[in-house]
Amino acid sequence: MKNIRKKIAGLTAAVVAVVGVAAFSAWACFVQPEEMPAQAVPAYQIVVEKDTSSQGDVVIEINQKDIYKGNLLLVNPWNAIPEDLEDVSLCNLYEEYPHRNYQLANSGMMLQEEAARQANMMFDAAKKAGQENYLLRACYRTQDDQEDILEDELEKYQSLPEDQAKDKALSKVAKPGTSEHQLGLAMDVNVYVPGQWSKAFGDTAQCGWLTGHSWQYGWVVRYDEEKSDITGITNEPWHFRYVGVPHAAIMVQKNLCLEEYLELLRQQRHIKVTDEQGVTYHIRYVKMGNHSSTTIRIPSSQYTLSGDNLGGVIVTWKEESTATSAS
Ligand SMILES: [Zn+2]
Repeated sequence: MKNIRKKIAGLTAAVVAVVGVAAFSAWACFVQPEEMPAQAVPAYQIVVEKDTSSQGDVVIEINQKDIYKGNLLLVNPWNAIPEDLEDVSLCNLYEEYPHRNYQLANSGMMLQEEAARQANMMFDAAKKAGQENYLLRACYRTQDDQEDILEDELEKYQSLPEDQAKDKALSKVAKPGTSEHQLGLAMDVNVYVPGQWSKAFGDTAQCGWLTGHSWQYGWVVRYDEEKSDITGITNEPWHFRYVGVPHAAIMVQKNLCLEEYLELLRQQRHIKVTDEQGVTYHIRYVKMGNHSSTTIRIPSSQYTLSGDNLGGVIVTWKEESTATSAS
């Protein structure tokens, strides 16, 4: 309890600090829903590659542990975070990225490095488009953080029988071990407004811009009401998840949540997508089964690996012949 109280006190101090900063900001954030900025719509060419035979000069060895790391890890009420989440390189947003187009709820906020880099590019672009006053409310959480949050939520339902209280709390807060925040690949975004903590984020122009453009930076709105049966979480317009480029674009274009997208990859095994600039990516699903390791050949050295936390590994590579100077 002491620990929790300390955290609450710290949080309150952070709120006061944020609101203090916010007092300098004008009324720009009071934007009506009808002023929503236009959304960017991905127009990728998506083709299923029938021939999945291994070819190419680049040999990749994929191991069981690769199932449990990477940007596409599925974490939901039915799939807990991997116990030994590996190679997670977290960076502190306050220390590494000062003077950005957002406020932080506290100075300890962290994201995985690539996700942080891409988030900063995204918020820079938002500023260019006239959208400011973003507030990052939550980023990386430890198991202890998540347990504290659940305990705080449980305290609200003390008058109810234990089972009911637990159900209520778990409908609002992810069970410890099943929160995407524990991956360092998720952030809760809001806007800060003078004199109050926040307002309904979903109604703001800042949310409108982010929802419409985040895919360009590898981020997606993770929880949509219409997908809540599949994700296990109701509408959360503030919760953004990093999955990386080009996956975010495909998910948005095909209106797939992460569960559905991974299912598509499992079924299609190999898809080829070309973005609006003519850059072509291949996305190949490798089922690991009980194999401790397997080897595949691909024709490009520009590749990334990500597990799905379900028994497969996704290899994504860029076609070198069409690679641009973008880096
Ligand atoms: Zn969240």
